[in-house]
Amino acid sequence: MAEVRVVNLQKKFGDFTAVHNLDLTIEDGEFLTLLGPSGCGKTTTLRCIAGLERQTGGDIFIGPRVVNDLKAGDRDIAMVFQFYALYPHMSAFDNIAFPLRAQKSAPEEVTARVGQAARALRIEYLLNRRPSKLGAGEQQRVALGRAMVRRPQVFLMDEPLTNLDAKLRGEMRLELKRLHQELGTTMVYVTHDQTEALSMSQRIAVMNKGVLQQVGTPLDVYNHPATLFVADFIGTPPMNFVPVRFADGEAPRLRDPEGTFSYAPNDEQATRVRGKGDEGLMFGVRSEDVEINPVPGPDDILAEVYVREPLGDETIYDLKVGERILRAKTPPTLRLNVGDRVGITMPPQRTHLFDVASEQAIY
Ligand code: ATP
Repeated sequence: MAEVRVVNLQKKFGDFTAVHNLDLTIEDGEFLTLLGPSGCGKTTTLRCIAGLERQTGGDIFIGPRVVNDLKAGDRDIAMVFQFYALYPHMSAFDNIAFPLRAQKSAPEEVTARVGQAARALRIEYLLNRRPSKLGAGEQQRVALGRAMVRRPQVFLMDEPLTNLDAKLRGEMRLELKRLHQELGTTMVYVTHDQTEALSMSQRIAVMNKGVLQQVGTPLDVYNHPATLFVADFIGTPPMNFVPVRFADGEAPRLRDPEGTFSYAPNDEQATRVRGKGDEGLMFGVRSEDVEINPVPGPDDILAEVYVREPLGDETIYDLKVGERILRAKTPPTLRLNVGDRVGITMPPQRTHLFDVASEQAIY
């Protein structure tokens, strides 16, 4: 096991910078996910850590060693990709054993290590089968087994579950998490799928356009997004946003330019944005924090039910506030009809404020 430290990493392809000055420490034994949309630089970062790509600037440490000049094979890491290439003519056992035999391990050692990996992955029963006789999830486990037997210091995984169907993906998420708990090996996991990131990781590093946006626990990045990008990227449905300006006074308000949305910030929020009255602010609230009152209270924001989307375990309502739509996630027991006039409240401690120019959260 080892800590992985990325210091001021920069990677350019010609004139294009895929990764900008990235500083990130993945702790010894930690499960950290690089999360972001397609093209944000997460795979490039992983490939630099792996030694498959040479960075343009900065240093990479694995444990105490600077590995900048080490080939991938000498970095003591194992990679698992989206496209796992198993040897079709070999049994699952032989596929898993392959790296050990390549390094000329003794046959007893090979049998013992393959057995151990197979037990951890719960695939002992299929070791004699060839890949064509295995399901997609089973093949992915064999690929994981092949990575595990080398007992690397670090696992690097690039969207390893993408090719599996939704149910299998859900199962493999739990399996990978269990496996990490069992092995305790440092894992760096790349995905664009927020559910994978939130459910498996100890910490998530969110990237956009080659720039690190935030590093934190899943709850941190969900509850306290540091930038507009993180707030928008994480959460389903995405966070509601309303551009507002701060109007100070005896009863301070946050108002949208149309004058249909008017929110009373609490004292703490007002303190945070005071003095920013002339600057563009973005008010954000997650759909589960928009509370609907079927009978509007005197201080509520007034809205009209525009669309109802029943999802079984919850219902999403699109609510029209002026010309703006706010989405609210409610228990399925709340039954409203399209056209109903309702009130909205949003607990201030569950709302978010961002500076539009810098795109940073205002704390
Ligand atoms: P995806 O999930 O689509 O792989 P990603 O976040 O992993 O996305 P990267 O693969 O790291 O993104 O790519 C980051 C950017 O660098 C993209 O714009 C990509 O087109 C560019 N890029 C990656 N590899 C190369 C290359 N070999 N030559 C030129 N540009 C590249």
